[in-house]
Amino acid sequence: MEKKQIWNIVLSELELLVSKANFKTWLQGTYILEVKNDDKSIVVAVPNSFAKSWLEKKYHKHILEALRGATEDKVEDIVYKVETNKAKEDPRMNIATISVSEERVETNTECNHGLNPRYTFKNFVVGEGSELANAACQAVCNNLGKKYNPLFIYGGVGLGKTHLLQAVGHEVLKKNPKVKLFYTNAEEFTNEFIKAIGNGTMEKFKSFYRSLKILLIDDIQFMAGKERTQEEFFHTFNALYQEERQIVIASDRPPKEIPALQDRLTSRLTWGLIADVSPPGLETRIAILKAKCKEKSCVLNDKVLEYLATHVQNNVRELEGALNKLIAYYEFHQTELTLDIIKNILDTLNSKPKTGFIHPKQLIETVASFYGLDVAQIGIISYFGWKIMTNHLKHIQDSITEIVGKLGNIETEMKDKEKRISFIEGKISK
Ligand code: ADP
Ligand code: MG
Repeated sequence: MEKKQIWNIVLSELELLVSKANFKTWLQGTYILEVKNDDKSIVVAVPNSFAKSWLEKKYHKHILEALRGATEDKVEDIVYKVETNKAKEDPRMNIATISVSEERVETNTECNHGLNPRYTFKNFVVGEGSELANAACQAVCNNLGKKYNPLFIYGGVGLGKTHLLQAVGHEVLKKNPKVKLFYTNAEEFTNEFIKAIGNGTMEKFKSFYRSLKILLIDDIQFMAGKERTQEEFFHTFNALYQEERQIVIASDRPPKEIPALQDRLTSRLTWGLIADVSPPGLETRIAILKAKCKEKSCVLNDKVLEYLATHVQNNVRELEGALNKLIAYYEFHQTELTLDIIKNILDTLNSKPKTGFIHPKQLIETVASFYGLDVAQIGIISYFGWKIMTNHLKHIQDSITEIVGKLGNIETEMKDKEKRISFIEGKISK
């Protein structure tokens, strides 16, 4: 693939992740300047030093991910270089200009509240799987703090939870632009909390959250295993709830299924209404594609949309990603999109195997990071789990031994910690 084509794909992906305003400010005018070291290093040209530092700090991870996706994981590092005169080489300029002229919501809302201007009720296509969540979000806007508090929305990735959460924000702000509303996610809440502890600014942190009229908190599952953050969030929750301040929460699973969440917090999360979002059916997927085309001022014929909707079923983010890639392809090649071409593009998108063998090491690392433990701790837990099991369930010892063997020969690794082990074993056998 050519540099321009690769960067087109990257920009299409990033467009999904960032707001139009951010896209315009930081990504428009960027392009691939150079590909080095057998395609492993990419130099990205940026129009100014602000964009350079912003991309390095805020979007680097996403850019790298998208670049790896577009290059079969070849890219290992990216350098951002300020190139002032060459912004006109940006292959996406045309698309960006089209979308920018279409901007619907004032971009300054985003600066104040962290909301993506695209995520409004107007841009949300309601399907059978999102009817309840959408209705509940709308109801909340008309009865702040009174009707469903907290409102808890859950569902798989890319199904519109963040969109709905932010739509509540836009709607409330539309009615009362001065209302104290804050959108954040559990990861940022955690980071801010840690920062406040470090800087000795806990009072400021607390009073900020407790002064809100509406708190929209996304991806709450991220708090799993983070005891102190949960503790702080629990108190924030209570303070807001008692004052009838509205709380809307999104998560990738229902409260009871979030592991390592303190019972009292789980119970709080179930006090109001819990609404799920499930994947849209074919008709809704087509309707979503039509709405997205309208949003992007592009026209694709019904056959193309139907083909896309039939072949990309998992979630709306992927559907939108595929649509963006088609548009990018069209912009770049300026040829009519026949079904054959679309099929080829989708095939290349799907060429990376989605399933396959997961190495035990990868599994352990994922579990460790999910529960906020390090790999050694998982090893110790598994080791004692195995010890206890083998003591009590001799007959399944073989399979357990095999599993533990795959966990990386923990027993051997534990030899140097024998003293600690025999001490803990002593405790277990009592
Ligand atoms: P989640 O938070 O559930 O992972 P998002 O809210 O980030 O998913 O949605 C992913 C993308 O799909 C966003 O660009 C969003 O606008 C779009 N999207 C999801 N559901 C819908 C829908 N029903 N109508 C229109 N766009 C949708
Ligand atoms: Mg989300």
